[in-house]
Amino acid sequence: MGARTGAQFLEGLRSTNRTLWVDGEQVSDPTSHPATRGGAASLAAIFDRQHTYADECLVPDPETGEAINISHMFPRSKDDLFRRHAGLTRLSEGTMGLMGRTPDYMNMKFSGFASAPWVWAGADNRNERGAANMVDYQKELRRKDISLTHTIIQPTVDKRTDTQVLGNKVTIRKVGETADGIVVRGGRVLATLAPFADETTVYPALPLPPGAGEYALAFAIPLDTPGLKFLCRDSASSTADPFDKPLSSHFDEQDAFCIFDDVVVPWNRIFLDGDVDIYNSTRETGFAIHMTAQSTTRALTKLEFAYGLASRMAAMIGDHTPGTVEMLGELACYTQVTRNALELSLEHGWERERDGMWFPNSAALDPMRALLAMWMPRVAEIITLIGSHNLLTTPTRRQLDDPAVRPLIDEMLHGADGTTADERSAVFRMAWDFVGSALAGRGFLYERFYLTSAARNKQMMHMGLFDRSRANALVDDMLARARATTA
Ligand SMILES: Cc1cc2nc3c(=O)[nH]c(=O)nc-3n(C[C@H](O)[C@H](O)[C@H](O)COP(=O)(O)OP(=O)(O)OC[C@H]3O[C@@H](n4cnc5c(N)ncnc54)[C@H](O)[C@@H]3O)c2cc1C
Repeated sequence: MGARTGAQFLEGLRSTNRTLWVDGEQVSDPTSHPATRGGAASLAAIFDRQHTYADECLVPDPETGEAINISHMFPRSKDDLFRRHAGLTRLSEGTMGLMGRTPDYMNMKFSGFASAPWVWAGADNRNERGAANMVDYQKELRRKDISLTHTIIQPTVDKRTDTQVLGNKVTIRKVGETADGIVVRGGRVLATLAPFADETTVYPALPLPPGAGEYALAFAIPLDTPGLKFLCRDSASSTADPFDKPLSSHFDEQDAFCIFDDVVVPWNRIFLDGDVDIYNSTRETGFAIHMTAQSTTRALTKLEFAYGLASRMAAMIGDHTPGTVEMLGELACYTQVTRNALELSLEHGWERERDGMWFPNSAALDPMRALLAMWMPRVAEIITLIGSHNLLTTPTRRQLDDPAVRPLIDEMLHGADGTTADERSAVFRMAWDFVGSALAGRGFLYERFYLTSAARNKQMMHMGLFDRSRANALVDDMLARARATTA
């Protein structure tokens, strides 16, 4: 089949009999329910977008020649890295970077996973079948253009004991086997995109201790697999006129608690079943850096959108005060540093000797995982500070269209330099939807936690990712100089 159209994507959602709870209601058709139809339509537009920008967003499948999304690519050169980045950028512009989980996010992880079957197989090839399943699955993923969600984090019950893993009866674990596959039971957070996914995946995240085989699982299953249930968070989607809620009416990608209620995972969909050592080694596939390249590309689009929006707001109310100009400059700095990091990561990409696969440079991108989680809340704060009360003096579409109040609105709620009341309201409504709506609150939480917290990412930088050799050498050099001076 290859890359799907939006219509094919929506048809796929309609034909999947998922168990999805939105508040007290079971939603069978996410394409028509008020809580989910806006998100479904925006994702359909992403599927169409890959065809609109086919030169940038599609590549031929290396075996069949079918056109597939560029996020499935195994880059084989630096040019491929740049080309993929251009395609990902184009896709992210479909949502202004506000949907973190357009399917290219998960596609990048699976192209990373499947590029290194030897990691899944283990040194002595003991998981040969799981590795072959992974390779086959990635082919299916790219050729059927499947939309994926995932859950890799255990639910929080008691932070004093959750990390002990062994004996945890809440998180997902293997509880049996049948002739058809393994039986899994337990909960997981937090399946972003669940209403808009065709399949869900489970794969290694935090390392497991020895003896934790029942938790050492990786697999992919369709969303209508019996026993699989999703509890959606409160909807942040708006059914108001898109003028009033331009972002909430389109970009709620949802997040759902995932329940595996004795779910049978078929043998051919199991990538890992019980091998803790392999589970703990899957970062060696290099999947994380591909995913970080996608997420940083998406974040750059969001930052640049935010900078544009903030600048437009300031211009519309004639705000050239030093404080505002400084804050706009701060947004420009975040944007430029993020762009620099991406360009550096591509320019200094590297080739894996074993198979000729190319990777973005981790040193350039790793810091972005912590920095963006801190910058995004500040971005929202800046828009709030520049916007002030103007974020709320925003007539709705119906008020603007009402002949009784429109002349008064035109007289009293226009902006500077000829800005009409309509133009001003459109921009400030968009800004409020960006920082003050339910969607904005969810976006705040997403940016802070979707790659784990900034705190954890900073710790990882210090504890291993950052090369401290020059820092140490500089201090040693200065200590030596001090000693020499003293002597
Ligand atoms: C909107 C949203 C969407 C998500 N989507 C998905 C998804 O699709 N799939 C999925 O699997 N997961 C998803 N997640 C879950 C996400 O991966 C976790 O929230 C993330 O791993 C952080 O875990 P946590 O919430 O337990 O926070 P923690 O990392 O435990 O952080 C909680 C608090 O503790 C602090 N903290 C944590 N560790 C340390 C430390 N070592 N030192 C100091 N302070 C520390 C943090 O700063 C933070 O304030 C999503 C989360 C959100 C919010």
